Amino acid sequence: MSMWNPWRGCKKYSEGCLHCYIHKGDLKRHINTQDITKTKDFYKPIEKLKNGQYKMKSGMVYVCFSTDFFIEEADAWRDECWKMIKERQDCTFLFLTKRIDRWEVCLPEDWPEGYDHVVVCCTVENQKNADHKLSIFKTLPIKHKCITAQPLLEHIEIEKYLDDIELVVVGGESDIAARPLNYDWVLDLRQQCIRKNVNFEFRQCGTYTIKDGKMYKVQTKDLIKKAKSAHIDYRRVT
Ligand code: SF4
Repeated sequence: MSMWNPWRGCKKYSEGCLHCYIHKGDLKRHINTQDITKTKDFYKPIEKLKNGQYKMKSGMVYVCFSTDFFIEEADAWRDECWKMIKERQDCTFLFLTKRIDRWEVCLPEDWPEGYDHVVVCCTVENQKNADHKLSIFKTLPIKHKCITAQPLLEHIEIEKYLDDIELVVVGGESDIAARPLNYDWVLDLRQQCIRKNVNFEFRQCGTYTIKDGKMYKVQTKDLIKKAKSAHIDYRRVT
């Protein structure tokens, strides 16, 4: 597993961005997150060792986990990234985006059928964005699609968008001022996935999680552990 951040910085784009951990981290280090700049890792996938082998190992590559692969400020750089992605057929590249509505302007020319080794995760947090983004996502020629509902801010109905989805991930928000996650929303989303036989993962609780009408404060270090202890992940039946 590798991480690849060809650029850094991001701009808030939707309600889910309110307590973005990238912005919080940058604030502590006095870095302007809105300043989108290329990193020294820009060419990481194709850098080679003296013996000619790639430095970056084969396998899963998480792309732009501290920014957004479809951010406007990176439009001039993305084609080069697609070329590197295309060269590394031995890897699987996975990125999340809150900007699926920028799809048309972000693609390489030879995409039409989609690349086999690219996984695109569309992130949504409320019904309004789910309807807007997933109705676009549903129509796109992508070989591997996932949905990330994190931070989930309200109950959402997305069953009608699940036909070609491989995985739905749900999680709460982590912050002292986090908006609460109601466990009932998680369970309902899980049922939608089960009805459509789609993989489901409860990735993390919220700092404030409501269960059976009672609000619990969860320590940051326990957010993932508590979600896993619910044992509600679902693996599709093949
Ligand atoms: S798109 Fe992601 S990285 Fe960018 S501001 Fe929103 S949450 Fe942060």
